[in-house]
Amino acid sequence: MGLLVILGGGESGVGTALLGKAKGYDVFVSDNQKIKDKYKKVLIQNEIEWEEEKHTEAKILVADVVMKSPGIPDKVPLVKQIRNKGITVVSEIEFASKYTNATIVGITGSNGKTTTATLTHYLLKDHLNIGLAGNIGDSFASQVLEKDHANYVLEISSFQLDDSIDFKPKIAVITNITPDHLDRYNYQFENYIASKFRIVMNQTKEDYLIYDADDEVINGYLKKHPVQSTLLPFSLEKKVENGAYIEKDKLIITIDNNEIIMPTNSLTLKGKHNLKNAMAATTVAHLLKIRKQTIRESLENFQGVEHRLEHVLKINKVQYVNDSKATNVNATYYALESMDAPTVWIVGGVDKGNDYRELFSFVNEKVKAIICLGVDNEKLLEAFGSMVDIIVETQFMSEAVKIAYKIAESGDSVLLSPACASFDLFDNYEDRGRQFKDAVRNL
Ligand code: ADP
Repeated sequence: MGLLVILGGGESGVGTALLGKAKGYDVFVSDNQKIKDKYKKVLIQNEIEWEEEKHTEAKILVADVVMKSPGIPDKVPLVKQIRNKGITVVSEIEFASKYTNATIVGITGSNGKTTTATLTHYLLKDHLNIGLAGNIGDSFASQVLEKDHANYVLEISSFQLDDSIDFKPKIAVITNITPDHLDRYNYQFENYIASKFRIVMNQTKEDYLIYDADDEVINGYLKKHPVQSTLLPFSLEKKVENGAYIEKDKLIITIDNNEIIMPTNSLTLKGKHNLKNAMAATTVAHLLKIRKQTIRESLENFQGVEHRLEHVLKINKVQYVNDSKATNVNATYYALESMDAPTVWIVGGVDKGNDYRELFSFVNEKVKAIICLGVDNEKLLEAFGSMVDIIVETQFMSEAVKIAYKIAESGDSVLLSPACASFDLFDNYEDRGRQFKDAVRNL
């Protein structure tokens, strides 16, 4: 079979190593950082060769195929060298999908991937043999090896798609496209859009693309680059013939004249964005012939995903909401949009070139105080300083929450929705969200 080199010894790397070995490859895992103990153990137990805190070129540049972790950018010299040698570089999704005949639902987009993938899996799981993977939980590769489900819901980032070649989901979902990760795309939005659309590049008309028909970026791309896939748009604004839309308080999903209608109030998830996520997920469920009653019950019971507009606690009639996963302006837009009480807003972190203007009307309308939680808060102070009576800075989550507690009055909400990445003060967004919840519980 040859030599499979894996760059990155995380969840997807180690999963691919196991699958590769089982399929007869010689496998070498190389990570220029420390590999977590739990993954090292797996590699050792399975007698897979590995190295950490370095990349030994002599061992890597002789590979037959390289699986590159999505976190490693193309501009890294080693990756350039690999490509210059003509060695095939693939993503984990590409590699693992070769070893399964499962029906794949691939979900990509700038925001809402995890929520939509988790909800879709929730709608399907009692009726189909189905795995949930991608950026969620156990790697796709390890599930293909160990479980071999007949169906998968995969959350797929643009980085995974960049290194996909033959990957062909039966059902593709693009939740929305807004600027993100542009540092990996030469600061060209078009490159990032094209990357997202790689999810449909191998689809034929027997396959489906479910997408947000209210998203101008998606519509614009589709106009210029017609795709083979059967289109199933969803819309909050207009009626669609095939796909999903809203009429009064009803969600209507039509596929080949076969209609499912259900009340939008069966949805526990709040906010317009979640209605969109629900339209995408229910369209998949309808395509896969899940009964209306089941879909409805599942929508009523689905509690959402941690760190996404997660309701933490109500203290003195003040609702505390953890939206730590909002790492860009668009996600925060929907968070503020969904607030129906005066809001104390905790925001800030590592700004990825944010343009805050689209938040101005919500801030004027709903936000009574802003707590900036970042190392550098200049841009926030400048953007919002004249808009609210109270705007303060801190570098500690516990302090941010205490200040919020003092400001908020009965009936208000306290919202952590940073619109920024977390690396200046936290390990990652999960750490930031957990610290928020701990601080709230300690009030
Ligand atoms: P992803 O996996 O794409 O990062 P998540 O489901 O984790 O998406 O949600 C990320 C953030 O975006 C959260 O703050 C969430 O509330 C918000 N969000 C979820 N769905 C949408 C959507 N359809 N459009 C815009 N923002 C969304």
